[in-house]
Parts: sequence; structure tokens; C-alpha cells
Amino acid sequence: MRPDILNPLFAETATLDGVGPKLQKPLDKLGLSRVKDVAYHLPERFVTRRPVENLDAASEGEQIVVALTPTEHRAARSGRGPYRVLAQDAVGNVCALTYFGRASYTAKKQLPVGEKRWVAGRLDRYGDMLQIVHPDHVSEDGGNALCQLCEPVYALSEGLTQPKVASLVEQALARLPELPEWIEPGQFARQKWPAWADALKLAHNGEHAAARERLAYDELLANSLALMLVRADNRRRRGQSLQGDGALRARLQLPFPLTGAQKRSIAEIEGDLAQEAPMLRLLQGDVGAGKTVVALEAMLIAVEAGRQAALLAPTEILARQHFETLRAMAQPTGVEIALLTGRDKGRARESILMGLMDGSIDIVVGTHAIFQESVAYRDLALVVIDEQHRFGVAQRLQLAGKGRRTPHTLAMTATPIPRTLTLAQYGEMDVSRLDEMPPGRQAIDTRVVAQERLADVIDAIGRHIAGGQQAYWVCPMVREHESEDIAAAEARYAALRERFGDAVVLVHGQLKPELKDAAMERFARGVAKLLVATTVIEVGVDVPAATLMVIEQAERFGLAQLHQLRGRVGRGSEKSTCLLLRGEALSETGRERLALMRETQDGFRLAEEDLRLRGGGELLGTRQSGDTPFRVATLEQIQRLLPLAHDDAHLLMERDGGLEGERGTAARVLLYLFERDWGVQLLRGG
Ligand code: ADP
Ligand code: MG
Repeated sequence: MRPDILNPLFAETATLDGVGPKLQKPLDKLGLSRVKDVAYHLPERFVTRRPVENLDAASEGEQIVVALTPTEHRAARSGRGPYRVLAQDAVGNVCALTYFGRASYTAKKQLPVGEKRWVAGRLDRYGDMLQIVHPDHVSEDGGNALCQLCEPVYALSEGLTQPKVASLVEQALARLPELPEWIEPGQFARQKWPAWADALKLAHNGEHAAARERLAYDELLANSLALMLVRADNRRRRGQSLQGDGALRARLQLPFPLTGAQKRSIAEIEGDLAQEAPMLRLLQGDVGAGKTVVALEAMLIAVEAGRQAALLAPTEILARQHFETLRAMAQPTGVEIALLTGRDKGRARESILMGLMDGSIDIVVGTHAIFQESVAYRDLALVVIDEQHRFGVAQRLQLAGKGRRTPHTLAMTATPIPRTLTLAQYGEMDVSRLDEMPPGRQAIDTRVVAQERLADVIDAIGRHIAGGQQAYWVCPMVREHESEDIAAAEARYAALRERFGDAVVLVHGQLKPELKDAAMERFARGVAKLLVATTVIEVGVDVPAATLMVIEQAERFGLAQLHQLRGRVGRGSEKSTCLLLRGEALSETGRERLALMRETQDGFRLAEEDLRLRGGGELLGTRQSGDTPFRVATLEQIQRLLPLAHDDAHLLMERDGGLEGERGTAARVLLYLFERDWGVQLLRGG
């Protein structure tokens, strides 16, 4: 049970003053559902604003405070377009105050035509007009408040403003309890870190490196400790030793010899399966490295041993694709394979459930539906999880109860992550790496093209489609507000549609799942020829006829992300091309990144380089350190502090594996605070 001392932090955000039903959605969107989430909603940066007489005195990109008088309100022309308020400064310069989504209501109220207002925000340019997007403050009097020297800037969502968030943070900080110190005393003294509550307060007040660092360390320590508790529990559990006689595997008629890396991985898995302790292994291999056949061999071992295996996919589309591939490959073995997704209803579903219960189905492929309460297995001995990071350890633990004994787990991921991050993501798992590609893979012809040549690129797509092939068009997520990105993607989609008509479909993060699935399906079936998407293109979606990818503003992506995206093409026998469109202002690291993309297709190398080049903060996703399980720790902090946290956790486990001593008790509080309490729950059960 969660220690009582944490209760004030886990109270709902709605208990703070000024939070009504209207704020619920924007708060949820930022993950700020409880007081502790608000306290940990650390500023993205701090601004220092300069008051200016008029816009001539300011430069683009600068944070300013200026007096403006609204002259005209322009409503959005399309549903998602922005709402603009045109305003004049003291000498008649015009500036647009731009609002997306519901923020336009605020604009209507705050900026009556003809009345002077002080506006604080970042001056930008939109086409040939000056603009300030979502001003941070609008006030009637010049107010010293606006010229405050240093003000935190928080991530927002539609419906929230900086002052609102600041007021919630202030209330949350006032509720911080005093928590016992969980950091090892020697470490704590050496690092000169502030105590937990002080660290949080400091982190909201200015750029206090030691405070930020301590908070990051806490999170890393919690994560390491929880993963170690899972592993320790795993060692205590009894699974079942699986020994296949090779009969089924011998019947496979693969059209290719296995690569060395595949053989090695299979041998490692076979070794684990023969043990009684349940396997906990990660199979890491770039897109196209051939993970599926490794998974199949593993599952056949389970079936040879008279047991069942399950493969869990992150989406229905992927589950279906896996099912078809596996069924075709395993056909000569006579093994019974079924597909089970949330969509199956009625009699079809009943018959699969029967088959799983009586053991006539050997292998089931599906989404998380395969682990619902109502699904019972005769003897589930191996679970393969594709793209594990979407499931997480907690779900894995729920699987533990499914077999008569704890099943073996093989997690597969196509994200080649650097070694340091592997530790953070997968902690104590054993790792097999497919670091060798099957022979005969065609290199993807990767080119960097200036954005000004857009028209040529569109012509090239026209020829490509006319030749019967398909293409992706990736629009980036780069702006402060997601709706702006969606608007940009929709504008691009509209333009391409004008040219190519029904052959174009659009997919983005705010589409309803049914619409998204329908668009993806049209593309997968080859009905649609061009898929315009924000970065949400499904991991692993396999459309071999898609042989061209265009990525807009490629310099704004990280290498790992570009690599993931590019992996969508080059899947068939045809030669594939990737066009990286770059903007005008290319930074040094931007240039370096694009050059590396041209140079190599080795995912592991790109992942390491990515980590090296990131940290400048100019990249997408660096804010939340994207592909890590952390909210507080940045990539740089992970690299520097994770080894320390890992060793510290290790030491604590050795001294007090049950977390019962004084520090152990404090560590329990830490685990609950960071919601790694699945670790603690294992302690009580075991
Ligand atoms: P992953 O899941 O790792 O992205 P897949 O398992 O889908 O990769 O394999 C990609 C393609 O490579 C498939 O068409 C598969 O049949 C083929 N393949 C797998 N292993 C080999 C191999 N050893 N030699 C040649 N082709 C292979
Ligand atoms: Mg795959």
C-alpha cells in the first residue's frame, strides 16, 4: 500500500484552487492528473523578457513585452486554422496575435478592438507578417509582472496558459510533504544536492542545476531499483524447462539460410528455455533484421515441448501481419496458429477461446486481447512481445499469472537503442542482438534535398505513383502546439490531394482510431498510393510496394527517429529512395546528422551517434527524452547519472533486498512516488 505520507501528492489536481471541469482535458493531455504530476511539471526553460517601445526595437525570435492595440479579429478560415488578432504598436507596425483551437475564446475576451494591451511573448514572422503565437500574457496595465526578470516557461496544452500553470504549480509546491531521504548519505553529501522538497521548489524558480540533477537521479534510482526487484522476483519464480526435440523446427522450409546473428540468438533463447527460471530476454534487431523467424523458432520449441506460445503485438494491423507471416512460414509444420484481437466477437471468438483452453491451438497471435481475464490457456509457456516498450513491465507482470507457472518472456524491439539506454529501458533483461542484416538487402538511396525544390519532389512522386509504386510523406511535429502541426499536415495533404486526388490518405495523432486504421488499410492494400502522415506511422507496418519516402524538415528530427522512419521503405525487392527535405537554416549538428543518414544504415551506429549529437535541445523529442521511460531525467542526465543510480540500487539490494531497513523504507516511498510500485508489490507477494 502506498505510504500515507504521499497522499497529498496523489490527490487529484481537481483539488487545487481554480481547477474546474473545463481544465480537466488540457491537464490530462499533459499528464497532470494529480498534485505530484503538477509539482513535477518542471519548466522547459526560463525567459527573460525585454520591454520595447515598438516592434522596430525588437528582433525576430526575441521575448518581448510591447503595447499593442487590436484593430481587427480574423476568425479561422478552416476548422483547424488559427484565429488571428491584428494589432498595431505605437508607430503603426502591424503584428498578428495568433491563437489555435480553444485559445481563441481567450483572445476574444482579452483583446477588444481599439483598446491598448500589454502583450508578452516571442516575436516571430509568419510569411511577411510579424506575429506572436499564443502570447504568454495579455494585460491591461504595463504591469511590472510582465517585465519580471526570470519567468518559468511550462509546456502547455490547448486551454492552459502560463499564469494558470504557474498558479497550480505554486499550490502543488505548498503541499509537498517532508519525505525521508532515500539517497545514500555518502552520495548525497558528495553531490551537494538539496533535499527532495527543496529541489522541487528550486527547480521551478530558476536554473538550479543541482536541484534538477537530484530530481533526475531520484527517477533513475527508482527505475533501476524497480527493475532489479522484478529480476530478483523472476529468479525466485519457477517456470518450466522447455526442451524441444527439434522435430517441428526440422520441418520448416525456410527459403533462406539463417544469418549468424539469428542462429546465435536462437541458441541463446534455447538455452534460456531449457532452464526452470523463466526467461527474461530482449531481442534487439533493426527493422528487417529477421526477428520474426527467431520468434517462430522459439515458439516452436515451446510447441515441441507440448506447450503453447503467444505473440503479443502493439496494434491490430501488426497482429494481423504477424499472423499471416507466421502461418505461411509454419505451414509445413502443421502447427495450429490462431489470431485473436479485440475485434473478434461471437462465435469466432468462442471457438478460439475453446482452442486455447483445450490446447488444440498451439500458437496465438494478437493484441492485448489475448491476455484478458476471459482468455484461459491450457499451458502457456512462452510469451513473445513485439515492440515491448509500448507495454512496459507492469503488463508483463500481469502475464505472469497466465500460465500454470510463470511463462518465459521474449521481448522484441526494432529500436536500436544505445547501450546506456538499454539499461534504462530494459534494466536487468538479458539481451540478444541481431547485428547482422540478411544478405542482399538493398541500400536505401538517401538524398538531402533543399526545401525550395518542393515542386520537383512532387513531380518525382507523380512519376513514382504513375509507375505503380507507393510513397510516404512525413510531416514533422515541430511547433509549440500540436494543432499547428496537424494544420500543417492537413495543408500539405490538401495540396497533394489537389494534384493526386483519392490516391492520397492522411494519418495523424488526432484522428479517431477507426479513421486512422481505415486510412492505413487503404494504403496497405495498395488502393491509396501516397500516405501523408505526421510521425505516427505505425512501427513495423509493412508495405513492400512503398519505395519512396519524403521527410519534411528532416533536420529537426533525431537520427534514431529518421532511421525508424526510413525503415518503412526498402522492404521489397525494388530499389527504395528516401528524400530528406531540409530547411534553409541548417545548424552544424543538423548538417552532420543528415550526412550520417546518407552515409550509413546501421541502426546501432545511428543510435549511438544520435545520443552523442543530441542535447543541443534543438531536436524533436529531446524535451521529454522521447524514447525513454523517464519524465524528469534528460538524455544527458541519463547518460551521466544512470550508472551511479544503477550501482546505488545494486548496493541497496545487496544490503537490504527486502527494503525493510531505514533506507529501504525510504526507497519504498521513492518507488511509490515514481509509480514503480510494481517492484514493491512483488516484495510482499514473494
Ligand atoms: P524484422 O521483424 O526484424 O523487422 P522480419 O522478420 O520481418 O524482420 O524479416 C524481414 C524480411 O527478411 C522478411 O521478408 C524475412 O522473410 C526476411 N529474412 C529473414 N531472415 C532472413 C535471412 N536469414 N535471409 C534472407 N532473408 C531473411
Ligand atoms: Mg517485425
